[in-house]
Amino acid sequence: MSGIPERLGTQPTLSFEYFPPKGEAARHEALNTAIRLSARLPDFVSVTYGAGGTDRSRTRDMVADVCASHVTGRHRCPVMPHLTCVGHTRSEISDLLEGYAAFGVTDVLALAGDPRPDLPEGDFRYATDLIAQVRDQTDFGVGVAAFPEVHPRSPDRATDRRRLADKLSVADFGITQFFFDVDDYVRMVDELDALGCDTPVLAGVIPVTNPASVRRFADMNGTNVPADLWERLEAVDGDERLRIAVEAAAALVGQLLDVGVPGIHLYTLNVPEAAEGVLDALGVGSVATGA
Ligand code: FAD
Repeated sequence: MSGIPERLGTQPTLSFEYFPPKGEAARHEALNTAIRLSARLPDFVSVTYGAGGTDRSRTRDMVADVCASHVTGRHRCPVMPHLTCVGHTRSEISDLLEGYAAFGVTDVLALAGDPRPDLPEGDFRYATDLIAQVRDQTDFGVGVAAFPEVHPRSPDRATDRRRLADKLSVADFGITQFFFDVDDYVRMVDELDALGCDTPVLAGVIPVTNPASVRRFADMNGTNVPADLWERLEAVDGDERLRIAVEAAAALVGQLLDVGVPGIHLYTLNVPEAAEGVLDALGVGSVATGA
């Protein structure tokens, strides 16, 4: 099966992100979400990585589960593990990459991760260190993270953009952190363009079904949240909250498609209804016949 780089370039790609939850029941539910959303024919799906001890094996287990349904199952598409390198040794990364190749993985999202006091020092510091090992050891496609509103550890905007352009020049594609203003995405792409970088950067879009937890992530990442949207979301719950979250995410996706985004990466939070609502609102993402 071809990897993600071969799928980029003709029309905007559609991808879904899942996280590996704790516990057997939640793991089962997450897999059911992935199987249900596979009817929307994503170009690829991804599974996030937890940097701590048991979180690591949860990612591997979920990648194995999702691969069993998406790589060899009815809807075939790449399953991309996220992989953070801070706190890892070279030989641990080597084992993980070998294991993923055996599952049929063809691509990896190469990340630094966040420094944590409970992690050992490890052999890596930046995402580019990990990319070098992935390139050395595999022929995987390589994606990287991009922050339209600048990474919180960057000293200034110009430095952030220069390092991002350098990283994208050794990767195949980028995926952004979620954001809520199309102008932030357009500005980042223009700044990269001015630096001679034209590696495709897919836009990460989150339907805000859980405003409290999305705000926590946004605060950690320096992402601006629109006060009026949060006010509307926090005033309601249940179906009405879902409706507002879907409407806002669909509006942003529509604007991104209008400015020529190379792909939309939906953060599903393992909830199928919001992703389905966004695709229905836009009339994109077909339902596989007989799935
Ligand atoms: P890098 O690209 O290494 O950059 C980190 C900082 O270091 C930036 O400020 C950069 O400018 C700076 N820098 C880079 N190179 C150099 C250099 N040579 N010298 C000096 N400074 C430099 N985290 C998880 O734990 N698990 C996940 O699954 C996960 N998935 C993610 C998916 C996406 C799409 C995104 C956008 C983020 C994800 N993250 C995840 C978060 C990510 O791990 C953190 O944001 C982390 O702090 C930075 O990772 P990075 O790969 O962007 O780092």
